[in-house]
Amino acid sequence: MVCYQFSRLGGDLSTRGIESVVQQLQTDLVLHGQRLSRVVPGFRKRYLPVLSRYSQPFAVRNLRSDAAFVMRPPSQLVFNAAGFRLFHAPIDASEASGELTLELATIARQIATEQLVVHELDHVTTGLITFQDVQHLKAIAGAGILGELDLIADARAARICARLEMLRAQERGIPNYASRLQQQFLVMGSFAFPAFRAPADKMHKRQRFLGIAMMAARVNGFLWNDCRLAEGALPIDTPIYPYVDLCGRILLCAFNPDRILLGNAVEVDPKLLRQTCDDLDRVPFARSVARAGHLLEQLGPVAGPIAEELLGARPDRRYDGHLLAS
Ligand SMILES: [Zn+2]
Repeated sequence: MVCYQFSRLGGDLSTRGIESVVQQLQTDLVLHGQRLSRVVPGFRKRYLPVLSRYSQPFAVRNLRSDAAFVMRPPSQLVFNAAGFRLFHAPIDASEASGELTLELATIARQIATEQLVVHELDHVTTGLITFQDVQHLKAIAGAGILGELDLIADARAARICARLEMLRAQERGIPNYASRLQQQFLVMGSFAFPAFRAPADKMHKRQRFLGIAMMAARVNGFLWNDCRLAEGALPIDTPIYPYVDLCGRILLCAFNPDRILLGNAVEVDPKLLRQTCDDLDRVPFARSVARAGHLLEQLGPVAGPIAEELLGARPDRRYDGHLLAS
């Protein structure tokens, strides 16, 4: 496993140490901006303008608010140290218990730090900027939309961070990309889930975490299958967000890049669904990924509606349109 300058966070969790990683990330995103634009859809149009608008070195400070970051005139983003500390806490605990070596814990802290920054940069590109923006969105549009935006930001963070690691290590090819994605999801599922929690009264967080576990299950399946995708299947880095109800139904949405619905709400094993959701932030990520994989099998292929129809993937679904009744 290659990790760029991982010694920066080795046993050093000072705000200054985190800041130096964040600033190196900013430098690398700009340095590799053209190459990232070629492999990450939307990077050129969305991220490069943000990076050029906020061109002063990123800062990390203890902010006196719950905001993940603030904008400081004329052109600086200041990240809240509390967010990184929260994300690092389960990594530190795993290191203290001997579950993770210092080297692996150091790599995990670096990946976590970068994921958090890229996730927040994505929010800047989508207009979810201030703490009040989040509160207003939840109040007027519902928490499900926030869950979707977070899932998309998570997926884009995994994609960009995976590609950046490849560029730093001078790697190429789909198998390397899939392995790097797998590593990104492993850090999210193993440490962000227990750090940021998904309690029963926050269904949007459960749906978001389940979506990440499903994405990880697809990447694992892809690697297991010699990097071959089933016919008509959407790319492995496609964000998928499951809407879940208490009767045991899932309506899966994919973003390619616009939202598409994958079939109708499908009944799955309700006990498995409940157990998976209840345990997302408290069991080893591999277990959640295995369960998410079983749920995906019950849902059918992750394919767009046209491929789905051509493949006859959902024989119970009628393709006779419904717009007049909507
Ligand atoms: Zn977010």
